[in-house]
Amino acid sequence: MKIIHKISELKKITKNTNKPIGLVPTMGALHQGHASLIKKSVEDDNFTIVSIFVNPVQFGINEDFDKYPRTLEKDAKLCEELGADIVFSPSIDEMYQDTKELTLVCPPYSSINKLCGKSRPGHFDGVATVVSKLFNITKCSKAYFGEKDAQQLFIIQKMVKDLNFDITIIPCPIVREPDGLALSSRNSYLDEKARQDALKLSKALNYAKELWQKGIKNKQILCDSALKILEGTIVDYIEIVNPETFEDWEEKDKNALMLIAAKIPTTNTRLIDNMELR
Ligand code: AMP
Repeated sequence: MKIIHKISELKKITKNTNKPIGLVPTMGALHQGHASLIKKSVEDDNFTIVSIFVNPVQFGINEDFDKYPRTLEKDAKLCEELGADIVFSPSIDEMYQDTKELTLVCPPYSSINKLCGKSRPGHFDGVATVVSKLFNITKCSKAYFGEKDAQQLFIIQKMVKDLNFDITIIPCPIVREPDGLALSSRNSYLDEKARQDALKLSKALNYAKELWQKGIKNKQILCDSALKILEGTIVDYIEIVNPETFEDWEEKDKNALMLIAAKIPTTNTRLIDNMELR
């Protein structure tokens, strides 16, 4: 496995591969959630490229860009063990000549005026832009994304359709700790007390799912019940959407997806999680 930092070098290698290219875009600090995406691409018999790039364009000014964990050596070891072919880890200068004078890919307002897009203005412009660049740089035919970032996955799928990228998006299920906590690179910010609070996200989702299975399909009751479990965290949003459209869930909709974002107060860590109610 090679670690590549330059776009030109990556292009030289990908030109000569006869396998389809599978891309796993990440920001590094890899965990078993990322590993599941990499494994899937390797199983699909792709020439697998794992990109590791903490993308400044998707972070707001008061967010954790500077303190985001960077563990390239350890990440590369895991990628190699999993059978990836390339780790692509460009510098900011390699990816952007000037982040202030940048052509952006902007998802439609209706997809970003809610959930994470609402609380993180500009975030999904940054995501759609860097993912488009990675698609063009790697010339991948498949790209693997986690359902953990459900709104991101929805936006990327729409972007691929709208902009005619000839790429298949492969959604991968959320990987959790045995107690339910969704794996996240940001979990490394949590001490034991904060981890207990973080656990409330998956507990709240599971509780709402239990109520759903008992026949309670009232959005207000479901959200309020989940909200009680989230006490002690600072809830950014708790919503139920139709996962096909990401519009507010209505009783006529077949499927329902509950999404939560909350800050864990002692460490100021913002976490997200989601679960299908069925
Ligand atoms: P990130 O490094 O946080 O940008 O995530 C890179 C990719 O890994 C995204 O497609 C995420 O949705 C996915 N991912 C992150 N955490 C998990 C998880 N717990 N389970 C499955 N996929 C995940």
